[in-house]
Amino acid sequence: MIIDFHVHTFPEKIAGKALYKLSRSANITPYTNGTLDNLLVSMKESGISYSVLLPIATTPSQYETINKTSIQINTKYKDKGIISFGSLHPDNSNYKDILNSLAREGVKGIKLHPVFQGVYLDDIRYMRIISYACEQNMIVIVHGGMDISFPGKDYAVPVHIMPIIKEIKPDKMILAHMGAWDCWDAIMPFLSEYNIMMDTSFTMPRLPREKFLKMARLTGIQNVFFGSDSPWTMQKESVQSIKESGLSTEEQEMVLYKNAIKLLGL
Ligand SMILES: [Zn+2]
Repeated sequence: MIIDFHVHTFPEKIAGKALYKLSRSANITPYTNGTLDNLLVSMKESGISYSVLLPIATTPSQYETINKTSIQINTKYKDKGIISFGSLHPDNSNYKDILNSLAREGVKGIKLHPVFQGVYLDDIRYMRIISYACEQNMIVIVHGGMDISFPGKDYAVPVHIMPIIKEIKPDKMILAHMGAWDCWDAIMPFLSEYNIMMDTSFTMPRLPREKFLKMARLTGIQNVFFGSDSPWTMQKESVQSIKESGLSTEEQEMVLYKNAIKLLGL
């Protein structure tokens, strides 16, 4: 079994436009057409049983549509291995209601993206949201580090990550992109001391294999989750890169699905 903990899809109607816009700003080519149906084909080709969809509310008003869609997707695609998270914006002052209703509907977690949302991760607004999500026993996935589409925007670099880890001590918060995209040296010193979960999405080959192995073992293999960031990488190639990473077979199994089964309660 393989579980991909970091995937994006877009509603049919806007997929073409959204993909075009995002791929232009990041100067990368998407590997699917951004739709759910195309993702299912990719999963089949890659031997992936479950994909976790991570929508992002880039404005405060988007949460309603996004979360409604997530709930619909979870019902409609339950048997196809699609698990959609919800999202909200740091400016949603009704964050408790939003999180409560997501939890009530069985949505297992939320995605936050400080760079897309334009707020520092250690801002009180994120602190409150993450802390409340933890109380509701929800999983929180946060974009970590720099973002290829927004050069110079340091909203989620380690200096803004660590206050959350130190003050809230979230036990189900995953930092995407091995903790901090393109800031791996800066997060490295904290990995053995704090409980830091991370996903592997969009890291290889930019993150050298030796450094990936060192980081994975420092933070603990039980804290590392396979993610592809499809459509921005090919799921099949991302799986392959884990298999060629130098992790032992046992470690690979933990990263590719065992840790995810536990966290998602599958
Ligand atoms: Zn992503």
